[in-house]
Amino acid sequence: MGRYTGPSCKLCRREGMKLFLKGDRCYMAKCPIETGRPAPGMHGQRRSKLSDYGIQLREKQRLRRMYGIQESQFRLFFDRVAQKRGVTGELLLQRLEMRLDNLVYRLGFSSSRKGARMFITHGHIEVNGDKASIPSMVLKPGDTIRVLDKKESRDYVSQYMEAAESRGIQPWLSLSKQDFTGKILHVPTREEINPIVNEQLIVELYSK
Ligand code: SF4
Repeated sequence: MGRYTGPSCKLCRREGMKLFLKGDRCYMAKCPIETGRPAPGMHGQRRSKLSDYGIQLREKQRLRRMYGIQESQFRLFFDRVAQKRGVTGELLLQRLEMRLDNLVYRLGFSSSRKGARMFITHGHIEVNGDKASIPSMVLKPGDTIRVLDKKESRDYVSQYMEAAESRGIQPWLSLSKQDFTGKILHVPTREEINPIVNEQLIVELYSK
């Protein structure tokens, strides 16, 4: 299945929660979730009781849509972390957080993960001093992410950095505003990620 190209808000309405897909608009009162718009479709207002499988599936869809990842890539992510030692659900969340597109978003260089992906593929980001153009690249503690020293690149991020800073930078990241550089201090804990889903249900879904 290809990448979803429809309206972002429709995905939030489908999941019945804010997935923060549209940048600053998500923090405004006109967000459709805030205004109480029902789920899309003719039967959007009707809530049918979900089976256990249905609940697990919804949790997976929420997390996948929030990070903007296609099903096949999400499954690949899961299979990789399932082979590692540790709590699989937590490892999955951590791996998602350590993706370059998420980090660019978390550092406030873009107002959404989707915007971050475009910014990266257009060549505006450096990782550890080298140009990086792959949004799905997974980074590690100690790595630095820097906006290219070009007027065009820095003007773009400046419009978002203030709003992101007022919402607070994640405690596991550091940001030097004047250098347009962020650093990963450590892998975030589950508490620091504060997920919108019960990741254990996703583990159960994929373990069937
Ligand atoms: Fe739209 Fe953002 Fe609200 Fe989701 S959270 S419905 S993307 S404005």
